[in-house]
Amino acid sequence: MKAVVTGGAGFIGSHMVDLLVEKGLKVVVIDNLANGRLDNIAHHKEKIEFIRADISDKSFDMSSLFTDVHYVFHFAALADIVPSIKQPNKYHQANVEGTLRVLEASQHAKNLKKFIYAASSSCYGIPDTYPTPESSKIQPEYPYALTKTVGEQYVMHWGQVYDLPVLSTRFFNVFGPRHRTSGAYGAVFGVFLAQLLNKQPLTVVGDGEQTRDFTFVTDIVDACYTASQSKYKNEIFNLGSDGTYSINYLTKLLGGDVKYIPRRPGEPDCTFADITKVKQKLDWSPKVSFEDGVKIMLENIEQWRGAPVWNENSIKEATKEWFEYLS
Ligand code: UDP
Repeated sequence: MKAVVTGGAGFIGSHMVDLLVEKGLKVVVIDNLANGRLDNIAHHKEKIEFIRADISDKSFDMSSLFTDVHYVFHFAALADIVPSIKQPNKYHQANVEGTLRVLEASQHAKNLKKFIYAASSSCYGIPDTYPTPESSKIQPEYPYALTKTVGEQYVMHWGQVYDLPVLSTRFFNVFGPRHRTSGAYGAVFGVFLAQLLNKQPLTVVGDGEQTRDFTFVTDIVDACYTASQSKYKNEIFNLGSDGTYSINYLTKLLGGDVKYIPRRPGEPDCTFADITKVKQKLDWSPKVSFEDGVKIMLENIEQWRGAPVWNENSIKEATKEWFEYLS
């Protein structure tokens, strides 16, 4: 059995590759290394095929790569809020056009069993219901969320019109080793771990009582694999940890000093997935507790040694557009 993982050198994609190799699949990784790193998959060496290419590049003909593929895990995407506000077109190219091109290439697979799309819980914006079920209102708050949502709509449409066996999995606040260590101001774990390593205060947004459904990366890829082996198609599944944890609790687990910084506009007070559907249909449930996940992050803290160390002022500067456009 053969699988393509787009974005397979990235944070979540590389964990997907780990699991697929462990399960004995042949794996082809397509990644442009914009955010992904070869280090993330270097331990597989000749066990996998790596193609450095941009899925949204029209001169890159992917179709021949897909003819004998059974599973497609489409994880390649641009992330982060502020850069998406600054360059929405770039996000459209990567996350919408890129998805369309991977769908079209997948139509060349003669025996495709499943196409798994990595969707984002940001599609719910500021949700009306907690825990949030898949049927909740879709209300993206910024271009990253919008482009991931439109990508999902393309995927579901390809299931409906072209009978591609698609599933979309909406990830909630994924964390784990190899979480990005460079680039734009973003996900909280990278920010806090670099601050902790450099004995700087952890910059807690608002009063820190907001909660997130922090889901450990190995649970996410385990769910994606389980979905790929299932009989289902044309379905959307939330993937979450079955809990929600405050930032103040996270700082307690990590230790270190804290500095409170202004609350950001357009942010939910809580993310919390209703995972009833995935539990019932796929018989899947998360295995790594939040506390154990944080422990694993601390054991791997050296990974953030070279990461940017954010502070109140640099965050203020980096989030200027965020406050300007989302207020
Ligand atoms: N957060 C924080 N300090 C930071 C960055 C983030 O307290 O320097 C908080 C943020 O307010 C949010 C949580 O951490 O409640 C997760 O933020 P992240 O950007 O990782 O994910 P998202 O907001 O998209 O859920």
